[in-house]
Amino acid sequence: MVDSGLDDLYQEVVMDHGSNPRNMHRLNDPNSTAHGFNPFCGDIVDVDISFSKLDHGREAITEIGFDGKGCAISIASASMMTEAVIGESVDQANKIFADFHSMITDKSKDIDDYENLGDLEVLSGVANYPTRIKCAMLGWHTLIAAIKRDPNTVKTE
Ligand code: ZN
Repeated sequence: MVDSGLDDLYQEVVMDHGSNPRNMHRLNDPNSTAHGFNPFCGDIVDVDISFSKLDHGREAITEIGFDGKGCAISIASASMMTEAVIGESVDQANKIFADFHSMITDKSKDIDDYENLGDLEVLSGVANYPTRIKCAMLGWHTLIAAIKRDPNTVKTE
């Protein structure tokens, strides 16, 4: 990252969420659970979601919790993911996922191309570290599997 201010913030946020993860607990009776594994780093993440019904058959994420073991980036990113999508509609969660994924995998895009990513923007620096992208994406791919009620373990290929 050329912008050293964002780089400092990145360190700070990853340390904060890595050592004090938000929503790091399993739900008692979730509507869906998904498991994720990143073989490149050994990170594992489980995500539980409870949904509520909105109009027109849509759903919202009313509760989300995760548990995991792995490097600081995998835990920090999963922690930030839960904060980003809790209380959001599934449609909006899918959109946040798509923007986040694009932000850290597509270096041709500018940070200003994204709206609504908020604090997640500090993770944009991960795009410069290809080996860490899988760590940062693990919780997010697991989120999507939980939304889809996919019982298979998600692997970061
Ligand atoms: Zn990792």
